[in-house]
Formats: sequence, structure tokens, C-alpha cells
Amino acid sequence: SYPPFDEQILDLLRSRDEFIVLGHISPDGDCLSSQMAAGSLLLKMGKTVHMANAGPFDRSEISHLRADFLAHIDEELYNRNPIVVVVDCSSPERLGHLAKEIEGLTTIVLDHHSSGEQFGNHRYIVPRSVSTTLIIMQLYKALEVEISQEIAEHLFFGFATDSGFFRFINAYRGETLRLAAELVDLGVSPNTMADRMTGGKSLGYVKYLGKLIDRSESLFDGKLMYSSSCLKDRDTYITTDKPSDSLYAMLLSVKNVEVVLFFKELEGGSTEVGFRSSHQSSVDVGALAERFGGGGHKKAAGATVNEEIDIVRKKLIDAVGELLHG
Ligand code: 5GP
Ligand code: MN
Ligand code: MN
Repeated sequence: SYPPFDEQILDLLRSRDEFIVLGHISPDGDCLSSQMAAGSLLLKMGKTVHMANAGPFDRSEISHLRADFLAHIDEELYNRNPIVVVVDCSSPERLGHLAKEIEGLTTIVLDHHSSGEQFGNHRYIVPRSVSTTLIIMQLYKALEVEISQEIAEHLFFGFATDSGFFRFINAYRGETLRLAAELVDLGVSPNTMADRMTGGKSLGYVKYLGKLIDRSESLFDGKLMYSSSCLKDRDTYITTDKPSDSLYAMLLSVKNVEVVLFFKELEGGSTEVGFRSSHQSSVDVGALAERFGGGGHKKAAGATVNEEIDIVRKKLIDAVGELLHG
């Protein structure tokens, strides 16, 4: 089960009055739900709370999660010496420009990534937790703060997005389902959560997804599947959504596949790469992404590489070939 919290973390949360709750750039459902739930926890404890995130807020799964997120920490706030609580973020670079703006402030990191760089003054890192929201749920229990239905929805939503709606639960298995059940008992509708997670997409998104599936290629006896998106796609398919979960689910459903890669050409000659590996595969894509300057989990990871898409694709195909055959 979840390890106990360091008393120092609980003491800081209890004794200090002002907090900034921070999450990673290009936030996903787990990140923003964790921010909302952690912010509500501190508010219920009578604290002054500021939410900050460098954005962009471009995924439709987070459209119901709107707060006044500061894009900058101004001098006045900084000088009051608030405690920073960073959630769902494995390295300072993932905070974007806010990393520099919080330098020198006492920082608590609450996270579940298995790769990354240790940072912050106090850390509670549980890679076995499927989502950061379930870590925040532990914090509610440790601090004995009541979980309302609205907070339960945030806690469940982060669990839903990061577990691929119950598909990827590799550790704390029974416990994870019991925590989810507890949240349902607090009034969460799994049905509504599923709609929020997968619905609200544009038609352009669905056509884009179809194109990416159509473009997918198979290598190494089908063990690697990959697809690519070029800059021109932006004019053809109007969407701000990443094809993430549904594209990966489709390609991972192909027989014998172990690794799925998605390459996205970015402006200025860099490339975003998404990584997934199948449940049966021994390939650790978090470690692989780390070699390319990114990170994540064993089965799901990402990286942005400062090279042209053709070069990045070739390097990664070679690297996966070595992992599969070596
Ligand atoms: P997604 O494909 O859903 O954007 O990301 C999958 C996982 O990889 C997430 O857990 C996310 O934290 C991690 N990830 C995605 N992009 C990056 C990146 O550029 N750097 C790092 N360190 N992790 C990433
Ligand atoms: Mn995240
Ligand atoms: Mn997460």
C-alpha cells in the first residue's frame, strides 16, 4: 500500500499559510485534476492558495478543469515566501518558464513518474500509483480532510485518464480499485467521467486520427508500430488535441505489437515523440524516452527532440530494434 507521508511534508502543509500549486506544461487530466484537488485541500485547511501552470491548455479532456491559473509568479507573491506544491511533474524542465520563477522557494513534489530528475526540497514519489490524483487522495486521508463529491470527481478523473479508464493498473491493483470504488461511493459517476475523458472532440480530430492510423507502419515482425504527423496536417485537420490515447489503443491492439511510437513534426525543426509499450513487453519506454531528453513511465512516455522528424524517427527505430533484438 501507499507509503506514509514524511512528517516534514505534513508539518509544512499544516503550519504554513500561503501556497502555490503547480503542474507540468501542456497539462493532462491527471495534472490539472491533481492541482484542483490539492488546491481544494489547502483551501479547506484555511490556506491562501494560488494555482499556476505554464500551459498551453489545449487538450479537450481538460476543458471542464478551469481555474485562474497564474502564468507567472510576480515579485510580490514570491517575496511572501509561499510553499510550492508541484504535482504530476518529474523534472523542473516540465514546469516550463515557471521553473525559474519558483527557484529559491521551499518546494514539495508529489508525483508518480518512474523516470526523471529529483528536485524540490521534499518529495513524495510513488511510481506504483497509477495517477497523481490517488496520491492527493492519500494526502486528504493523512490530513483528515473530508472529500466532497466535487473533489472525488477530480480524484477519479486523474485516475481515469492515467489508467486509460482501468486498463493500465500494474501495481496496488486491488487497492487502486478500492480507492476508485470509494470515490464512486462519494458520488462520482464513472459514466460521466468516461464522457469527459473521451468526448468533446472536433470532427477534425477524428479524421486526423483516421489519417494517422492509415499512415501507420509496422517493423520488426510487427513488434514496432509507428505513425507520424507533419506540419501540413495542421491545415488539413483542425484540432488542438493530441491523438494520444485512442491512437495508441488502436495500434497496441495489433497482434504481437510491443512498442508504439508517434512522431509529430513541430515548428522550428524539432520533433515530439510519444511512446507506449504493451503490457507483455519488457521494453521500458520511460527509460528510452529519457535517453532522448524526455521521460515518463515504463509503459507510457514522451520526449521533445531538437532534430528533424526524419532523423529522430530513424534514431528511434534503431534504438527500438536494439531493445527488441538485443
Ligand atoms: P502523453 O503521451 O500522454 O502526453 O504522455 C505520456 C507520459 O509521458 C506522461 O506520463 C507524461 O508525463 C510523459 N511525458 C510526455 N511528454 C514528456 C516530455 O517531454 N518529458 C517528460 N519527462 N515526460 C513526458
Ligand atoms: Mn501528466
Ligand atoms: Mn500523471
